[in-house]
Amino acid sequence: LIEVERLGKFYGKFQALADIDLTIEQGEVVVILGPSGSGKSTLIRCINLLEVYQHGHIRFAGERVEPGPRLAAVRSEVGMVFQNFNLYPHLSVIDNVALAPVRVRGLSRIDARKRANVLLERVGMAGHANKYPTQLSGGQQQRVAIARTMAMEPRAILFDEPTSALDPEMVGEVLDVMQTLARSGVTMVVVTHEMGFARQVADRVIFMESGRIVEQNAPEPFFNAPQEPRTQAFLRAIL
Ligand code: ATP
Ligand code: MG
Repeated sequence: LIEVERLGKFYGKFQALADIDLTIEQGEVVVILGPSGSGKSTLIRCINLLEVYQHGHIRFAGERVEPGPRLAAVRSEVGMVFQNFNLYPHLSVIDNVALAPVRVRGLSRIDARKRANVLLERVGMAGHANKYPTQLSGGQQQRVAIARTMAMEPRAILFDEPTSALDPEMVGEVLDVMQTLARSGVTMVVVTHEMGFARQVADRVIFMESGRIVEQNAPEPFFNAPQEPRTQAFLRAIL
């Protein structure tokens, strides 16, 4: 579904990504691990062209992701969930979820709200539809943000450390929602430090360092028998 080929990305003279080759299949759940500054965020932001890159190219469903008239359509197929939720503060929970389907997909307001209610139910937030983001806990806000992304029915969702800004007791509720989502068959690329999620939910784990993919494997061999010394050192440090 997502094909990254020889991707290279510079911030000025600094090379943030070097020669990244990566293919993500439809329905696959891929977890990206790596130390701070290794290029994890940059990579997933390149996938929907939130960052421009200088070398290589990216295809989504066979179509080049590039600036132009088709970019908005591609972006509507690739949802993104951020560390800091990024809900619209002036909109209620239900309007946060219903807005894009009305604006981008042309759904009627009534239909969009009906669907939003179903999605809020799925993420355990049905009772909070009329609240505003500031009235919610971090975990609740992130679950609304996931529902908002799902409302566009994307084929893939990119998550950038979705639980890193949460108090520890709220991490589980967000990971539960993500695990349910993974089972529903949506393609997911997840940057996270949650090793339990990586072990239990991922189909494949990728380890990045210094803008490169160092090692990738299914979770079981990745965690139990990492091949590269840098992966071994990273896992020793965090596990
Ligand atoms: P973290 O785990 O801390 O989120 P990361 O793996 O997501 O790290 P990136 O944010 O992708 O890392 O950054 C990769 C490298 O690119 C880092 O060295 C960072 O300093 C640099 N970088 C990121 N964004 C910019 C920017 N807008 N301008 C210049 N350099 C940047
Ligand atoms: Mg990052």
